[in-house]
Amino acid sequence: MNPLILPGATLGVMGGGQLGRMFVHAAQRLGYFTAVLDPDPQSPAGRVSHHHVQTGYSDEQGLLQLASLCAAITTEFENVPADALRTLAASRPVAPGAAAVAIAQDRIQEKAHFTACASISGVACAPYERIDTPDQLGAVHADLLPGILKTARMGYDGKGQVRVKNATELAAAWADLKRVPCVLEKLLPLKAECSVIVARSWSGQAVSFPPQRNVHVDGILAVTEAYEGNMPQVLAARAQEATKLIANHIGYVGVLCVEFFVIDDGSEHGALVVNEMAPRPHNSGHYTMDACDVSQFDLQVHAMAGLPLPPPRQHSPAIMLNLLGDVWFDAQGQTRAPDWQAVLALPGTHLHLYGKLDARPGRKMGHLTITGADVAGVKATARQAAGILGLPGIESLG
Ligand code: ADP
Ligand code: MG
Repeated sequence: MNPLILPGATLGVMGGGQLGRMFVHAAQRLGYFTAVLDPDPQSPAGRVSHHHVQTGYSDEQGLLQLASLCAAITTEFENVPADALRTLAASRPVAPGAAAVAIAQDRIQEKAHFTACASISGVACAPYERIDTPDQLGAVHADLLPGILKTARMGYDGKGQVRVKNATELAAAWADLKRVPCVLEKLLPLKAECSVIVARSWSGQAVSFPPQRNVHVDGILAVTEAYEGNMPQVLAARAQEATKLIANHIGYVGVLCVEFFVIDDGSEHGALVVNEMAPRPHNSGHYTMDACDVSQFDLQVHAMAGLPLPPPRQHSPAIMLNLLGDVWFDAQGQTRAPDWQAVLALPGTHLHLYGKLDARPGRKMGHLTITGADVAGVKATARQAAGILGLPGIESLG
């Protein structure tokens, strides 16, 4: 099936967060009408969409209403019930499909998929074991410790994971996680982290952005660096190839982001390890809106609508700084208004705020992309902006 849905039609999205909002903006710019399904009346995407279906994600009436409004439907978060996507797919093109989203929702299935691709790509995931039962807990290989225990489902932004040094800590951590199915991953010596965004069409055409280099603080993305030379070329090419393979292998349609580690294996550049994938645009790809001729959200629209997928071209080096709710609090924990005037006076700053009403520490409220003529200038401006707003992670700039 290769639909062609032209501007003027209505495109739908499951989920009303910031990724949905940026999708809605991209679709509307192309002349589409939009519909968002999200139970929250104040969801960032619901508030800017032509239609907002305010029901739960599994609500049959809500799904029926979304399908009747839309010519095609996508998703903005991976924890959308796969069954809801299946229901929608009975009457409308849905990209990505339920099967692909179900794999991304479950670290055990995701790792099995990566392992199947590794024989061709040469990029494996971290050594791991699944832990579903007390017997599996007791039989864990000692060389996986120290490790990170991660819930198989529903983890994001470092939530649902615990670092453990030994078997005693592992048992306590599994109890803390309510003994839900988990994976124990070996703690790897990371040199760097990166991610690749690919868009794949109904007919199997795929285009991708070069890898972004990512800095996480407390498990949450803080800084993304996107420019030529942000990582060794040989690793960049391998990551891009592996990502396309990971998408192809499951006939993926839509935008997919794959996260990688660069680990220290004693070699000059280090080795690539695949971490996880997100069946949607990704925080690390937000710079594409301001630094590329097509953004990850444009490609999400193109892919679901069956429009051509032009290879993206980056026209400016870029650094993206995430703006978490912490920016709205001073050192004493008092709320404050961030100094946007000072930030916006810096050259090449693109401020994106998601319209969320209450700032909470750790909550993604917006991001700032800095573009410029050269990498040195972009880095200097990023340091200034981070200084003004008190943003973390900037000291790890490559
Ligand atoms: P999430 O779904 O929360 O993004 P990730 O599996 O990507 O979960 O883990 C969050 C961060 O924790 C990673 O970006 C990385 O910094 C660190 N991390 C995760 N797994 C490992 C590992 N096996 N070894 C070292 N660091 C890790
Ligand atoms: Mg991650």
